[in-house]
Amino acid sequence: MVAVPAPAGTDAGATEVTPEQAAALLRSGALLVDVREDHERAGGTPDGAVGIARGLLAARIAEFAPQRDRQILAICATGQRSRLAAAELRSVGYPHAASVSGGFRAWQAAGLPVAGALLDADAAERYSRHLLLPEVGAAGQVRLGQARVALIGAGGLGSPAALYLAAAGVGTLTLVDDDKVDKSNLQRQVLHADARIGLAKTESARQTLSALNPRTRIEGREQRLRAANVEDLLRGHDVVIDGADNFPTRYLLSAACLRLELPLVYCAVYRFTGQVSVFDARRDDSPCYRCLFPEPPSAADAPNCAEAGVLGVLPGIIGLLQANEAIKLILGIGRPLVARLLCFDALAASFRELRLPRDPDCPGCGAEAVFSGYADIERICSAP
Ligand SMILES: [Zn+2]
Repeated sequence: MVAVPAPAGTDAGATEVTPEQAAALLRSGALLVDVREDHERAGGTPDGAVGIARGLLAARIAEFAPQRDRQILAICATGQRSRLAAAELRSVGYPHAASVSGGFRAWQAAGLPVAGALLDADAAERYSRHLLLPEVGAAGQVRLGQARVALIGAGGLGSPAALYLAAAGVGTLTLVDDDKVDKSNLQRQVLHADARIGLAKTESARQTLSALNPRTRIEGREQRLRAANVEDLLRGHDVVIDGADNFPTRYLLSAACLRLELPLVYCAVYRFTGQVSVFDARRDDSPCYRCLFPEPPSAADAPNCAEAGVLGVLPGIIGLLQANEAIKLILGIGRPLVARLLCFDALAASFRELRLPRDPDCPGCGAEAVFSGYADIERICSAP
């Protein structure tokens, strides 16, 4: 490779070129290096450029330009870092290194070709703090955008979970709830608002979530989860979050998630305490809900929060732990709460973790377990 002659209007010793000049030089053999960080390139890179982050440039440039007389053009976001990068390249023995003035912003404004955009410009900006995390990155953000999460209940637990899942860029949230917003909900159900008392919770939630992140698709299902609809409501999702906190729903969800092989993020809240776990039917080592509670308690032994009371922030904390598990499951990062029961005590401000092994005799997932239909599960839960 020989030094590339400068196009008309530039001199060979120029340390700065316009995007148009850079594009012409690229066509005649120059090397264009995008020196932005990996996450910045998620929104695309000049077509034909190679990506080497600024900090690695001196160490890696020889891989791409073994001949030092080749014309090298550095481009960054706005032209600041690339000027320093070009100076550095000249100092390490690449005399024909120049910076592209105005950076990628000017390149795009000039209508020059862009390649490799995993995310559009809106997503690259909106999720920039995720893109900075190598564990998420552009590929993880794309996965979040393709994910479908079913949230059972748009109440105290569903509120924080849905808010943060929408903010995180989960592509589709299906909200299953047949309730209307009541004044007594607002102490903890922060998806809703005083002005929306009487409105369906699914619609109230859709308004809040769409305002937060218009990219997330909100599918409201104004229905109660029942034997007849449970599989139809859950099928096609990647994760199911139990935010209903009542026994009939839990047993139905447990059975359906086993049959559909869907991970279920379970929780329960009571007064000042809460617990969270993940039952992942895709894993052989995962217990199911009935490994923990084989049979439903009688209605008399099972107070709900309308009767028992609950500290308003408690479902907020527990619902966020559920959202955290859902995001980890979607991204395949970290250690999910499988075979672990995380218990939180709000008054003591303490967490405790219990081991939750799979029960070989479990009536839900054990070797001898018999599935006799969802109607039967509904019936045993409503038995007095
Ligand atoms: Zn089980």
